[in-house]
Amino acid sequence: MIIANSHTILSVQGLRASINGTEILKGIDLTVKSGEIHAIMGLNGSGKSTFAKVLAGHSAYEVTGGSIQFADKNLLELPPEERARAGLFLAFQYPIEIPGVANTQFLRLAYNTVQTQRGKEELDPLEFDDFVREKMKLLEMKPDFLDRSVNEGFSGGEKKRNEILQMALLEPKLSILDETDSGLDIDALKIVANGVNRITNKDNATILVTHYQRLLDYIVPDFVHVMQAGRIVMTGGKELALELETRGYDWITANKQPVAGVNA
Ligand code: ADP
Ligand code: MG
Repeated sequence: MIIANSHTILSVQGLRASINGTEILKGIDLTVKSGEIHAIMGLNGSGKSTFAKVLAGHSAYEVTGGSIQFADKNLLELPPEERARAGLFLAFQYPIEIPGVANTQFLRLAYNTVQTQRGKEELDPLEFDDFVREKMKLLEMKPDFLDRSVNEGFSGGEKKRNEILQMALLEPKLSILDETDSGLDIDALKIVANGVNRITNKDNATILVTHYQRLLDYIVPDFVHVMQAGRIVMTGGKELALELETRGYDWITANKQPVAGVNA
């Protein structure tokens, strides 16, 4: 939702980044305010995941230009764990498996780290168990998820739900969901979307990276950005996603005017 007395959560200006000497991000500008949901769409290889990973502080990427302000912090000065503690959350396109670490231990450690940072009480295993089970109901997750190793042997849909569970526990200021819809059947997609919608409020913001518009039927964005060759080449409202669904992406390079009264 776009709200009147919102504040800026993320301000990206002229961001450039390379991997192995190849420039992937070629000058990205994006402002995200509290209460807003932004979708970033674009063909495979346009740089969407790179952008998400650079925001999270992935060490493989070299930032070669521009700035990222996150709340009151210069994000580029912070290592990834401090970005997370400051309230930035990235749900990965391909969540990693951590054999031998029970999901409940992992989640409690992550939760308590953030609680400490916020000057709040840590939860002991029993207290955490009650708390996490409540959140799991929201995502219709079975309790046995807690005792299984992190993501090990989870189906694609289960991994994605586990990512949203982390998001629900950590209450980030800014959540970035990278292709959270991929590999989900329609029921799982609705559950995940419902979870995201219940977490979103006027004080936080969400960036959805997606290739398909169907997720946006369930999580309605305030802004849709199109990424192409490492730049945001067009910005519109939620109608732009529908237009991309019917017309594809080719017209954007050919003629940067959307048909349906969307501002570029
Ligand atoms: P998207 O998420 O939009 O599909 P990516 O951010 O994953 O796009 O990739 C953007 C571009 O960066 C692609 O052309 C890809 O080949 C390139 N790229 C990604 N990772 C590497 C890497 N480790 N080395 C070289 N090029 C890479
Ligand atoms: Mg990607």
